[in-house]
Amino acid sequence: MLTLLRDLRRLRRDLHLPRPDRGRSLAIRHVDAGSCNGCEHELTLTASPFYDLARFGLGIVASPRHADVLLVTGAVTSRMRDPLLIAYAAMPEPRRVAALGNCALGRNLLGTPADLVGPVETLLPVDVRISGCPPTPDLIAEAILRLVDDPPSM
Ligand code: SF4
Repeated sequence: MLTLLRDLRRLRRDLHLPRPDRGRSLAIRHVDAGSCNGCEHELTLTASPFYDLARFGLGIVASPRHADVLLVTGAVTSRMRDPLLIAYAAMPEPRRVAALGNCALGRNLLGTPADLVGPVETLLPVDVRISGCPPTPDLIAEAILRLVDDPPSM
């Protein structure tokens, strides 16, 4: 246990992460708009005790009505276009969008078949771009924590 805590402290210091005693929180609604699940795998790791993001008030929520951030993975397929827009419309203001992974950023990793709508930013205003295929948990954690440090203006 002590080794784990020591590793967490070292990681926070190396990544220049904020101190865990902050009062803010951030609720994240994740939508898989058409990924291969590689990005989800890395996203799941950021919720592990190693990163301990819950201590910063970060959590994945089940409903967009409770979310501050819409976190989108995958190239947006035509079937996921409307669910994505509905999820965004249900979020309260101020709301932000994070595109996670090269597919969500429109880098055409899966080719350009007709049933892909395109990058997330063709549909929604993207505030945070997390590149990589898939991005490492370190990169994901860093980007999400930056959102906590940078509250939106109303
Ligand atoms: S960016 Fe890579 S890991 Fe993520 S959904 Fe696309 S192909 Fe999969």
